[in-house]
Amino acid sequence: MIKANNPELSSWIAVSSDSDFPIQNIPFGVFQTAKKSPCLATIIGDTVIDLSELANQGYFSNLNIDSGVFNKRYINDFMAMGKSTTRLVRNRISELFEKGNTELAGNSEALAKVLYNVKDVQLLLPVKVGDYTDFYSSREHATNVGTMFRDPNNALLPNWLHLPVGYHGRASSIVVSGTPIHRPKGQQRPDDSLPPVFGPCKLLDFELEMAFVIGNETQLGQNISTSEAEDYIFGLALFNDWSARDIQKWEYIPLGPFLAKSFASTLSPWIVTLDALEPFRTEGYQQDPEVLPYLKYTGKKNYDINLQVVIQPENGKSHVVCNSNFKHMYWTMTQQLAHHTVNGCNVNVGDMCASGTISGPTPDSYGSMLEISWKGTKPVDMPDGTQRRFINDGDTVIMRGWGVANGVRIGFGECTGKLLPSV
Ligand code: MN
Repeated sequence: MIKANNPELSSWIAVSSDSDFPIQNIPFGVFQTAKKSPCLATIIGDTVIDLSELANQGYFSNLNIDSGVFNKRYINDFMAMGKSTTRLVRNRISELFEKGNTELAGNSEALAKVLYNVKDVQLLLPVKVGDYTDFYSSREHATNVGTMFRDPNNALLPNWLHLPVGYHGRASSIVVSGTPIHRPKGQQRPDDSLPPVFGPCKLLDFELEMAFVIGNETQLGQNISTSEAEDYIFGLALFNDWSARDIQKWEYIPLGPFLAKSFASTLSPWIVTLDALEPFRTEGYQQDPEVLPYLKYTGKKNYDINLQVVIQPENGKSHVVCNSNFKHMYWTMTQQLAHHTVNGCNVNVGDMCASGTISGPTPDSYGSMLEISWKGTKPVDMPDGTQRRFINDGDTVIMRGWGVANGVRIGFGECTGKLLPSV
């Protein structure tokens, strides 16, 4: 067992039982305040821990690392040190904050510089994302979309069960949770007998996804096998792949989504390490037909992580519209990465891969409004008496993710974004 994952541990920092961030989590992020320029941090309970200050005070001096990696705008250089080193840092943080350890707890002068209430800081986009790829790996989601737009009897296209379908997305418009999004404008063709029109998107949707971050580079020509893939995955975050369905419908043939997706995607602020998710490993799907040898894998490569989507209207009560789970992935992250690199495509530290919409088997577990409202035919009743087919201006979409194992809850915090009118 990874030392920092020990369920017996507890911290001298107060952690409420419903917190996503007990001492067993120790995710990595970046924060700033009015007085403090951006630097790396972790969080326990509601307490943000300034890692650059911990390094300044010598608390990492026994690890023999370049403490400059903590005094950065992004976690990329930290990840690039490799898992053997980042694990030592996570273990050292665990040790410092464990109940009974007085190295830091007994140093009030240091504490005043290291600890912040999460309410008093601004969390920033933690990763400088190089390339971003979006997959389409939930069978239920692909089946629902195929049923709605093509043929219920042949919902999956012929390639779907043979390879993890994906496309190259847009990295520049990935924003941190809390960043408002403007409704995009673009071409749509609402009436197939008339020419296309231009204007604000009318069918604005969310996609409930998880994203993994690459922490280890490869060279052009190199492949990553399914058994090596976890060495390259530093950690995960929640991801809302905002989608303009009417723009998407008109533009996507033959090369896939373009402007319907590239206007914004929202990432949660804490990268939860793959190490912290060890207790949540679970069996994947039985894959039939049998996959090609380079996509075969052994062991538990899916993760049992509850996922939830809430719509919060501007002046109304919030409403849960989806309860899904990351385990509903037909193609695992290891298969996605093996497929991504099988042609020799290299990956860089900070690259991101998103799962695709994660829909479960029942309508209350569908991961997009497209599916929840079944193309708008089954509107959702909100507590304030209004209905939703898609997202309205003024709505905030809130995603949450967490798992519980051995009595310990590990979560991701929130991935939120408010939809503002078109500009
Ligand atoms: Mn997507």
